[in-house]
Amino acid sequence: MRWKGRRISTNVEDRRGGGAKAGGISILGLIVAFIAWKFFGVDPQQAYQATQAVTSAQSSQGSAPQSLTGDQKEASDFVGTILADTEDTWTPIFQQLGMSYKPPRLVLFNGVVRSGCGTAQAAMGPFYCPTDQKVYIDTSFFKEMRQQMGISGEQNQTELSRQDQAGDFAQAYVIAHEVGHHIQNLLGISSQVQQARSQMSQTQGNQLSVRLELQADCFAGIWAHQNQQRTQFLEQGDIEEAMDAAQKIGDDYLQKRATGQVVPDSFTHGTSEQRMHWFQLGLKSGDINQCDTFK
Ligand SMILES: [Zn+2]
Repeated sequence: MRWKGRRISTNVEDRRGGGAKAGGISILGLIVAFIAWKFFGVDPQQAYQATQAVTSAQSSQGSAPQSLTGDQKEASDFVGTILADTEDTWTPIFQQLGMSYKPPRLVLFNGVVRSGCGTAQAAMGPFYCPTDQKVYIDTSFFKEMRQQMGISGEQNQTELSRQDQAGDFAQAYVIAHEVGHHIQNLLGISSQVQQARSQMSQTQGNQLSVRLELQADCFAGIWAHQNQQRTQFLEQGDIEEAMDAAQKIGDDYLQKRATGQVVPDSFTHGTSEQRMHWFQLGLKSGDINQCDTFK
């Protein structure tokens, strides 16, 4: 898959490895504390603590962590490029529907993250939170996915440049699927399903959830179709790779990882056969009308 050199979205929030300031003494804080003491007679220790509280609140909200390794930078560039691709795909489609597309933000995190849907752990896998309209991804998930797919051993890594590394299309597919849930949120499909579920049995409700998941796969297919038209990004073997991923990150795999407070993107995604079918419908048609999984 080709991805370098395209636009990188500004909607990525990088919350990995921040906190470089934690525990350190901030010079600014000391200066402010000194001035407060000198001119306003405020206890310098109190003033210092107050400024520290402000700066740490600012740094936890900031989107750029202090020091990223080369691999981390590569990961955020990759994710930002795929997110930009989804923006460039869905903006014109929404225009055709007479709506304006409001892109989601995407949060990269390590270990644990606070989301609008509660606290989430990396072990849950990527998820979309409709409350804050953000996609959450722990990049270690990609690494695990690659191992799970057994991809690294199959290809001769030395022949692949970094950007052509195996598994990247499958990763892009996961991002596009999560953005698919955002589309459902914007179109009001998620809330309709939510409402219908409340008047159904558990089993019937789960069947609706499967349809929702399969539609997100179909929307991911639309992204692949439109992006191919626009950028010719697909390479030999990419589609097979995504199909393989759809098979291997099915329910059981994700469900095994799911623990904790947030209900992650793990319940009942449908069989791998269904997932492939709907992804391919989106991929071949590029048409949102083909993605009515509720019919
Ligand atoms: Zn999903």
